[in-house]
Amino acid sequence: MSFASLKLLPELLRAVADQGYTEPTPIQVKAIPPILERRDIMGCAQTGTGKTAGFTLPLLQLLAPQANTSLSPARHPVRALILAPTRELAAQVQESVRTYGRYLPLRSTVVYGGIDIDPQMKTLHEGVEILVATPGRLLDHLQQKSVNLSRVEILVLDEADRMLDMGFLPDIKRILAVLPRQRQNLLFSATFSDEIRRLADQLLHSPTMIEVARRNAPADLVSHQVYEVAAPRKRALLAHLIRTRDIRQALVFVRMKRDANRLTRELVRDGIAATAIHSDRTQGEREQALAEFKQGKSTALVATDIAARGLDIEELPFVINYELPHTPEDYLHRIGRTGRAGLPGEAISLVSPEEARYLADVEKLLKRSIPRVTAPGFGREREPAAGHHRVRTGAAHERPRERHERKPQPARATSAAAVNHNPESVFDFSKPYEPAPDATPRTAHTPLPGRNRPQRPTAALLGGMPASGHKPKK
Ligand code: AMP
Repeated sequence: MSFASLKLLPELLRAVADQGYTEPTPIQVKAIPPILERRDIMGCAQTGTGKTAGFTLPLLQLLAPQANTSLSPARHPVRALILAPTRELAAQVQESVRTYGRYLPLRSTVVYGGIDIDPQMKTLHEGVEILVATPGRLLDHLQQKSVNLSRVEILVLDEADRMLDMGFLPDIKRILAVLPRQRQNLLFSATFSDEIRRLADQLLHSPTMIEVARRNAPADLVSHQVYEVAAPRKRALLAHLIRTRDIRQALVFVRMKRDANRLTRELVRDGIAATAIHSDRTQGEREQALAEFKQGKSTALVATDIAARGLDIEELPFVINYELPHTPEDYLHRIGRTGRAGLPGEAISLVSPEEARYLADVEKLLKRSIPRVTAPGFGREREPAAGHHRVRTGAAHERPRERHERKPQPARATSAAAVNHNPESVFDFSKPYEPAPDATPRTAHTPLPGRNRPQRPTAALLGGMPASGHKPKK
């Protein structure tokens, strides 16, 4: 299948060829024809599938007949509105609009919060056909009357699930109220919760359903691994993995902003180039962090879920969950940053005993168990010699220092791995699938594994998974 057979305009084919794309991705094959027929779309597609071009190319084509080079703002009303949850995603979508629309005289701009509104107002006054926006800032513009949406023909909600997660539903409803009733609606979401279905029911008219990955299925090209480690040892393990596995670029996820800053500082202290990206940083700082990462100046980009939403980093080989998310869908969003556009990726999770239930939730959603790996020096020792106590590392004495520490609860999932994980029992790092036969009581003299323990040879501790180095693509 070629782009030409999708009946795209020569100007768009040229822009696509400039990008070096040889053939459309599955979502592009499925989405472009019905969008060109002005049908509503409900697309279940993750980032990394090529969905942005999937809606941007036909959108540009539909607007092309009225494209013009007039200087009059009246000749450039907003005709397509694209809503996105974060500034990063909004900026990346507009970049795609510019890239694919470079040979058409259509104007586009992006508006998001956290930066001066005046330049945005000026651009809007001059007229744009395609407006990409985050909901909050768009409402500011509507209030200030710096934008008129009465001529919108096409509405796109990109990553609608995340917009709802972030509490944007009231804002979206207020925006919908000022749009013409007669319009084409395109809704994209990585997951389809009941809430999203309700929104789709209200918004879409006889939509074409497009699903490119199995529902709630991660990109097939991503391999998953879990390193079992006590929480206080995570940072040392992360530094160790970055060094020993030749990780040159990794997006590292933490749950809280404060932890992103702390981990970044600690990695830098360990001699690893790291930078943080989260919502407390200014837009300039976030853009600089992303640019440095993309240029290969930093090895680890430490991010929170919200800040990382929609980041398009080409050929990212590693996503590392320094902490597991508390909602399994966020795991899917996180790993959507790797294994993109046909390239393989690895999702590595550092899981402490206290996180067992979140791991169980992830495995339940993935419908499979994730292989466990133990790094040398970070897991349980080999079988002790006769006469020695067998030492287990338990949640009781290696408690995490995180603020959001929560009481371990019995695993709820049904996967084999999860069923046998009982975080209330003594946690055995190298045999996660076997219930502990003897919970040897620890005494004050019992040595702890980890920093103070003599390290054991590597191979015996690898738990059956090769810790082969992943060579990032150039
Ligand atoms: P998206 O899912 O829209 O975030 O796109 C993921 C990545 O795939 C982006 O870096 C795009 O540049 C790239 N991409 C989009 N369409 C194609 C295509 N047909 N062939 C190769 N790469 C593509």
